Amino acid sequence: MRKQFAVIGLGRFGGSICQSLRKQGMEVLAIDTNEDKVNKFANVVTHAVVADSTDENTLKSLGIRNFDHVIVAIGDNIQSSILTTLLLVEEGVKHITVKAQNDYHEKVLNKIGAHRVVHPERDMGVRIAHNIVSKNVLDYLELSDEYSIVELMAGTSVSGKSLIELNVRAKYGCNIMAVKRGDEINVSPSANESLQIGDVLIVIGADKDLTRLEHALFNEED
Ligand code: ATP
Repeated sequence: MRKQFAVIGLGRFGGSICQSLRKQGMEVLAIDTNEDKVNKFANVVTHAVVADSTDENTLKSLGIRNFDHVIVAIGDNIQSSILTTLLLVEEGVKHITVKAQNDYHEKVLNKIGAHRVVHPERDMGVRIAHNIVSKNVLDYLELSDEYSIVELMAGTSVSGKSLIELNVRAKYGCNIMAVKRGDEINVSPSANESLQIGDVLIVIGADKDLTRLEHALFNEED
C-alpha cells in the first residue's frame, strides 16, 4: 500500500514537499486554514482541505493518527506550529517532521516529542556560506554539531594527484567516501587513481578537519 502523508501549511516549504511527495507517487493530504492556498494545491495532492490544525477535533475527524507521516510546515505562527505538534504527538502519529523558525522553536519542538525537526533556511545558509568562501565546496551537510559531509570539486591543487598522494586520512583526519566523475559515481575509489579537474569528492569528517582540508586543497576563489 502506498504511504500516506499529511502536510500542514502550504507556504513555499510545505507546498514544495507536497509536490515532491506526489512526484514520488505518495498519497498526500494537504491542510491549510487559507482557502486560496488549498484551492491552489487541490489538483496537486490527493486531498486538500481547509482546516485549522490547532483544533483537536478537526485533527481527529481527519483521522490524522492513521497517516504514516505528518509534516508541520507552519512557519511564522510558532504558537500554532507548537500546538499542532503537541496534538499530533498526543494522537500518537508515528512520524512527525516539523519545520522550525529558530533555535528556540527547535528546542521546544524536540522537547514536546517531534521526531524530526528541520531548519531549512539555516541549513541552506550554512551550505551557501561554504560555497561562497570557496567555489570548490559544492554542498555541505551537517550530520551533528561536530561532523559533516562535504562535496568538494577537484581544482588545480589536486588534479593529477592520486588519493594515496593526497593522503587526506592521515593528514587531515577525513575520509573520502566516493568520487563522482560526470554521471559515474565510484563508491570505493582506488587509492592509485589520479583525480581530474571537475571530479567531485564526497568527504566525511569532523568540521575542524574538513575546514583544514578545504583551506589546504580546495580553496579556489571565483
Ligand atoms: P514559507 O516560508 O514556507 O513560504 P510562509 O511564510 O508562506 O511559509 P507561514 O506563515 O510560515 O507561511 O505558514 C505556512 C502556511 O501555514 C500558511 O499558508 C498558513 O495559512 C498555514 N497555517 C498557519 N497556521 C495554520 C493552522 N493553524 N492550520 C493550518 N494551516 C496553518
